[in-house]
Amino acid sequence: MTKQLKRPELLAPAGTLEKLKTAIHYGADAVYIGGDAYGLRSRAGNFSFEDMAEGVAFAHARGAKVYVAANMVTHEHDQIGAGDFFRTIRDIGIDAIIVSDPALMEICAMDAPGLEMHLSTQQSAVNYETLNFWQEAGLTRCVLGREVSMQEMMDIRDNTSVEIEAFIHGAMCISYSGRCTLSNHMADRDANRGGCSQSCRWKYGLFDILPGGERDMLDEDEDGMKLEPFSMSAVDLSMIEHIPDIINSGIDSLKIEGRMKSIHYVSTVVNVYRKAIDSYLEDPVGYVLEQDWVDELWKAAQRELATGFFYGTPTENEQLFGERRRIPQYRFIGQVLAYDDATGIATIQQRNRFVVGDEIEFYGPGMRHHLETIDEIWDEDGISVAAAPHAMQVITMKVSQPVKPHDMIRKSLTRTNRHRNPKEKTLNK
Ligand code: SF4
Repeated sequence: MTKQLKRPELLAPAGTLEKLKTAIHYGADAVYIGGDAYGLRSRAGNFSFEDMAEGVAFAHARGAKVYVAANMVTHEHDQIGAGDFFRTIRDIGIDAIIVSDPALMEICAMDAPGLEMHLSTQQSAVNYETLNFWQEAGLTRCVLGREVSMQEMMDIRDNTSVEIEAFIHGAMCISYSGRCTLSNHMADRDANRGGCSQSCRWKYGLFDILPGGERDMLDEDEDGMKLEPFSMSAVDLSMIEHIPDIINSGIDSLKIEGRMKSIHYVSTVVNVYRKAIDSYLEDPVGYVLEQDWVDELWKAAQRELATGFFYGTPTENEQLFGERRRIPQYRFIGQVLAYDDATGIATIQQRNRFVVGDEIEFYGPGMRHHLETIDEIWDEDGISVAAAPHAMQVITMKVSQPVKPHDMIRKSLTRTNRHRNPKEKTLNK
């Protein structure tokens, strides 16, 4: 008898209300956001209570859930106000908080009973006894440390009933699941209290300290090999090529990293994983990974992609991000606000400059795609213009195929698109 596959939750990051709505529109089953306090992304565009309420209403109306990351490591006095905060977000309808500090767990349990708690990856849970411990402590889900292998994840699944969540896509800390003080030293910003300055991604050189304290930068190693400035940052995780393994492992939630990423990134990545997950669940035997899905991810990728620790500890060459080897070929330029079926005219909000003559690509949920070459653009007053240079500018253009609100538009960074000069053309309608 064939084993019944469990449909896992696809969990997306949402740094803002717009990203929350985009992620759900493109197929996320749940999103995680940050509040004004207690999270680990102090600069991620955190949600006010009003935004949370609107986000929860939007999500719940579409059968999706909203979790709030409250996973900072609290020092003395950091917990002041936490009880009120948790009670308020529980009453707003937030489905769970993601926590790592036992002090915050205790406050939540005492002051906001009924609000579910998920263990953050910050706690580095990498074995089933640890998960069972947290389940007994009242948590309903554990996010695994990113250092867990596929085999370990299956073993953990077999030995615990608590829900399991694992990262399947996005940036990885080069430190042990975010336990890092590099940013504290280099930028005086506490990574474990939401201030990471991503110091691991800076360029570093090797120096000799000379008598008197002077520094001498080394430009070759002991074997005479040239030393280049280096970065300690990791390549990004991507499990798109291993969706069957991930789903067969039986885990409950597949998490995408990136609350600070754009709506272009969120829509693209969610769209691809939604398609791959649904395709596999629909026909596990006939499932084939389509090259289009991988290519689509590359349109929003920022670094090389690898499988992290899922298939063994990566070697230095697999894990360390050096020079970029594949440059993204697309730039996000806008999203569709409206479309008129009768005229075939789309109303578009600009996000990056584009000009008449550009080759652009529209895409939408369900991996709908089509290409256009821009023939003409009209500004808010119906004047034909050569370019859309202003951020958030609303323009209209004729399109050859129907589009829908929330469809996104990218511009191919081909040589022709990059060097086109809008001044060559000034049109009046
Ligand atoms: S500096 Fe790098 S390794 Fe350290 S917490 Fe920030 S992203 Fe992670």
